[in-house]
Amino acid sequence: MLKAQIIPVTSFSQNCSIIWCDETMEGALVDPGGDHEKLLAHVEKLGVKLTKLLLTHGHLDHAGGAADIKEKLNLPIIGPHKEDKFWLDQIEEHAANYGMAGLRCCTPDQWLDDGEEIQVGNQTLKVIFTPGHTPGHVVFYNEAHKVAFVGDVLFQGSIGRTDFPRGDLQTLITAITTKLWPLGNDVTFVPGHGPLSTFGAERQSNPFVSDQALGRAG
Ligand SMILES: [Zn+2]
Ligand SMILES: [Zn+2]
Repeated sequence: MLKAQIIPVTSFSQNCSIIWCDETMEGALVDPGGDHEKLLAHVEKLGVKLTKLLLTHGHLDHAGGAADIKEKLNLPIIGPHKEDKFWLDQIEEHAANYGMAGLRCCTPDQWLDDGEEIQVGNQTLKVIFTPGHTPGHVVFYNEAHKVAFVGDVLFQGSIGRTDFPRGDLQTLITAITTKLWPLGNDVTFVPGHGPLSTFGAERQSNPFVSDQALGRAG
């Protein structure tokens, strides 16, 4: 079974997820944005053996802690899609602008593409390419438990900002409606910020991407 615990990190309260397979106790961090000592203390308490670090996209609050953890535990950084390289390369500059200490640029060991699969113990995550908020954003989806780690693509009642360089609103809406909605209304998603929700609930009431807002038949 896939287990998950969410730990908010950085001053942006980014939801870093510790995910693990309870058969092997092998696990991964999704979006280790910072506060790496706090994250690793939780990991140790859970008895999880980390095998990889997964990034949904290159923003500092999602990726800024990855370099420190990689060096400390000798783990590969996997994802996002290579179109987000320019974001990962600017983390230190942006962190300085926000006055955030200790966040670092990083270079993934593996870039991801749509349709790839990642193993965490006996659990499988499918990679879904979802550009729009950033051009190289990916979502990690576990079909067996119908749970998706969506970064800053979709939130309860909102969607990701698209006013950043190379962001695009229509691209984001297309990614949500053609890549995420077909996975099913009963999929629970863990967003990069704020509470969990389901795709079905957002199709009902999200002011940006509900079926009604988009003029789609329910
Ligand atoms: Zn972001
Ligand atoms: Zn974010």
